[in-house]
Amino acid sequence: MPSLQPKEYWEKTGRWDSVDILFKIKSQTDKMYALGCSHEEVVTPLARKFTRSYKEFPFALYQINTKFRDELRAKSGVLRGREFRMKDMYSFHTSQEDLDAFYARAREAYVKAFKRCGLDVKVVEASGGIFSKKISHEFQALTPSGEDTLIACGNCEFGQNVEVASAKEGEACPNCGKTLIKTKGIEVGNIFDLGGKFPEDFDYDYMDESGAHKPLVMGCYGIGTTRLVGAIVEAHHDDKGIIWPKAVAPFHVHVVAMTSKNPEAQTQIDETVQAIERDLPLVGAEVLIDDRDKGAGEKFADADLIGIPLRLVVSEKSLAAGGVEWKERASSEAKSVPLNGLSGAVAEWLKS
Ligand SMILES: [Zn+2]
Repeated sequence: MPSLQPKEYWEKTGRWDSVDILFKIKSQTDKMYALGCSHEEVVTPLARKFTRSYKEFPFALYQINTKFRDELRAKSGVLRGREFRMKDMYSFHTSQEDLDAFYARAREAYVKAFKRCGLDVKVVEASGGIFSKKISHEFQALTPSGEDTLIACGNCEFGQNVEVASAKEGEACPNCGKTLIKTKGIEVGNIFDLGGKFPEDFDYDYMDESGAHKPLVMGCYGIGTTRLVGAIVEAHHDDKGIIWPKAVAPFHVHVVAMTSKNPEAQTQIDETVQAIERDLPLVGAEVLIDDRDKGAGEKFADADLIGIPLRLVVSEKSLAAGGVEWKERASSEAKSVPLNGLSGAVAEWLKS
């Protein structure tokens, strides 16, 4: 969906003036545009063009694209920028019950997605913000460096962003009675029950079996994919660098190719690295090769900093020990794996 959106659409929903972080730009011909911070103003009239019959509902549309926010104070690197990526989904329903059921499924699916990214998120109640007068749900990755303050129960699912909190720190949890604590989180997702607002603003309704016009309701579901990277690194690092969870690592395997002064050993190192480069992709591993002409210390420090989950060292020493040195970034243990068993071992490790 386009980032550049005509002002008229944002005026229709009343958000041209009410959204303070909306990027507004003027063309050479004085025509005004918004740079989208969200896409309700695009997806609603788009859906209206194609889907009007009860038979076509419910449905959901999603994209992963660039969003803009005119932040007064952009900060914390990728956590709050003026340009960022987002996965946003919009669902359309003929009844509130149907929206409620879909909303619950989307919430569950997003929790699972975050778990696969290595994040344990807490789903908390938050304000509807620029989207809705109803309560929304935020997916918060709990970390002391988070910019959101939460009131949460450590014993059950209960949690609220302080901006809407009815409960206070130290009080009993309304669900289970345990003491509530104050904690910090990075918001990595947010889902909204938009009700009938956007369909009403764009005169979007549907025809039921008898041909009568009936109102629609809508939900939207966002994952901040740019700040997600920041939250993952926040949760998975040590003093040497990043420790990527396997599912979101830019590569699975980091091969450190050492150099040798002995030409015969160097040939053997080169051939081993070439074999790894050829064979590991066949079992689904993405491989980064460090064959720079640098010392071992520098290469190991860079490997730790970049944080690829599995490091394989090919050196004169490793070959003398019978193969390659295998070390996982999250572990301090290293072991020797014979070259002929390497593909199988990596395949096993990828599945684990
Ligand atoms: Zn509780």
